[in-house]
Amino acid sequence: MGVVARWYTDNLREEVNKGFRSKIEAGEYPHRPPYGYRTVKESKGSKFPTPDPEKAEIIRTIFKLIASGKYSIDTLREELFQRGMYFSQSTRKWTRSHLAKLLRHPFYIGKIPWHGKIYEGKHKPIVNEQVWQKVQEILDGRGNAKCHKRREFTYGHGLIKCADCGYSITAETHKQQYTYYVCSQRRHLNHSAKPAWVPEQLIESQVVSLLDKLILPKEVYNWVIEYLKRISTQEVVDTQKELKLLKRKISESQNTVDAILLRAAQAEDSLVDGFMRLARERQSEMALLQRRFEQTKLGLQEDTGGPVKILELAQHLSRRYVTLKPSPKRQIADSVFSNLELNGVSLCAEYRLPFAILAKNTNRPLNYA
Ligand SMILES: [Zn+2]
Repeated sequence: MGVVARWYTDNLREEVNKGFRSKIEAGEYPHRPPYGYRTVKESKGSKFPTPDPEKAEIIRTIFKLIASGKYSIDTLREELFQRGMYFSQSTRKWTRSHLAKLLRHPFYIGKIPWHGKIYEGKHKPIVNEQVWQKVQEILDGRGNAKCHKRREFTYGHGLIKCADCGYSITAETHKQQYTYYVCSQRRHLNHSAKPAWVPEQLIESQVVSLLDKLILPKEVYNWVIEYLKRISTQEVVDTQKELKLLKRKISESQNTVDAILLRAAQAEDSLVDGFMRLARERQSEMALLQRRFEQTKLGLQEDTGGPVKILELAQHLSRRYVTLKPSPKRQIADSVFSNLELNGVSLCAEYRLPFAILAKNTNRPLNYA
């Protein structure tokens, strides 16, 4: 960026920041508030976050459950789902990262974090400060939460559903040694057959044979790898061309901006404003181009070899799987399968994309294309 333009942009940013800081110091919130609040516009045009009654209730429940020490973030997700406390109608299940972020947010006790500092807000808190503190201790591992001491069950935490009633399968240990899985609602609902107690070994061997279905015959595998590599090389070439073009456009608009600013410096007072407006317009165009450039570049770094890696991974998954600890095992099962169900003693599953393509084609290798 040219020196003149950089000076200009830095000053503009400084101005905007100063405006925000004075608002935040006055307890206002010029951004979109977190989940649980909605923004109400006041007469003067200042925006004010106000609790949304329904969502605020969900937030209070989330904090209360974690503060009880009986839930981990994983079991909390399941509990919220069972209670019908959805994140939204389209995305019903809360994500782990969203919950983790939300549980740390001081906005819920009336405070505003901004540029590394905490300011007192003017908005109404949703969560009691004691509860919030308790939750922070538990998340830091200082609280005496049971969920940290409890044994971790690989196929618990709502990963598998009962095919008969749709509720979660839970784990129980017998004689502190043998783990069995059974429907959590076995006592409460009418099942067409008595829910079975299934040993962990039996579940695991079925997961492994489902993972085995992702293995392609050797010659098909080689052909597919070759094919994918060819496609991704072409994509890389195309993207690099686009990046070059964007870079040229950016440097062109940079020159234009510099020229306009130079004219502004030499112009009569009455014309300066016009030149500055023009420069600002050109600069926002340039910022757009710059953003597209960064995104394209990021896409290039992420995309390269993605499908190849997934395919390679899938070939070794079942062998590696048995050596893993409970939590990575669960993560793998969760990302490869959807609708894991226990029907009597047999485990049924659908594959998620892209694994679904592999599983479907392992039996009919010549149709892979
Ligand atoms: Zn059931």
